[in-house]
Amino acid sequence: MKYEIKNRRIWFKGEILNVNDAKINILSPTSQFGLNVFEGIPCYWNEEEKQLYAFRLDEHYERLMHSARLIQINNKYDKEELKKAFIDIVRANEYCENISVRQTLFVEGFGSWGSEDFVDMFIAPIPRGNTSAEYNKKGLNVCVTSWRRISESNLSPRIKCGANYINSRVGQREALRNGYDTCIFLSEIGKVAEGPGSCLFIIKNKVIITPKLTDSVLESITRDTIIQIAKLKGYEVIERTIDRTELYICDEAFLCGSAMEITPVLSVDKYIVGTGNKGEITKELHMTYLDIVKGKMKNFKKWLTPIY
Ligand code: PMP
Repeated sequence: MKYEIKNRRIWFKGEILNVNDAKINILSPTSQFGLNVFEGIPCYWNEEEKQLYAFRLDEHYERLMHSARLIQINNKYDKEELKKAFIDIVRANEYCENISVRQTLFVEGFGSWGSEDFVDMFIAPIPRGNTSAEYNKKGLNVCVTSWRRISESNLSPRIKCGANYINSRVGQREALRNGYDTCIFLSEIGKVAEGPGSCLFIIKNKVIITPKLTDSVLESITRDTIIQIAKLKGYEVIERTIDRTELYICDEAFLCGSAMEITPVLSVDKYIVGTGNKGEITKELHMTYLDIVKGKMKNFKKWLTPIY
């Protein structure tokens, strides 16, 4: 890494700046109301190839554009421009390690929450060592939070916008207050939805089950990757509504996301999941996932964008 974290380079409104010089107006809608949409894009370092690979950039940009469209943020950047800016800023920092990159479209200016103008972008690479402690755990003891996941009828979880994370926050804070690592949300109708920053899978009798995309979850790119890997390995994968009590009798469970990859759930509401250790299928999927993101599986290189 060429720059210390506190002096890293940021892509900000078309320029590459020291992070300390990238400043947003405190009265802007993004600052006051969380009026922004963003992606967290993982990049993995491949030591043998001396190459850094960004994972599923196209899918991240499709989701970013859908998020912007759904809350009418007038994004002026097309996919190629989003990609070029991303590559430029990672290169500018000369990263040769695993990183996560936050790419955010935000609403500036002095408007209010209804403002449509002054949309711009920043891109901030974040070394993986600096992501939340929750994500660095080997296994998670989780609770079902008393808060419900936001829903299609109020604030769709399909939209990856800053404001949606306040729902994540209240669930996560409750979990931490009560001595858990993180939480699982139920949907408005009381079915299993997702974690505060991750999707959920359970495994029962070797069948891999995850809530449907219409069960109040984000359209997670890791979720889609896992479904594809598992099917290729010959597992039955079912996307269906999950009851809360199924969490207490499954053989394995894990949360997944770009930041937390595949992290086993060891207990739910103090009911031990399976043996209480990382499950065998969870382990197998995680190892394959890591091989794919690092560019070690030829068939999946289509998902990778080399940075250098
Ligand atoms: N659900 C929520 C609420 C999230 O914030 C995230 C993280 N982006 C995920 C699921 C996982 O999505 P992805 O696999 O695309 O990172």
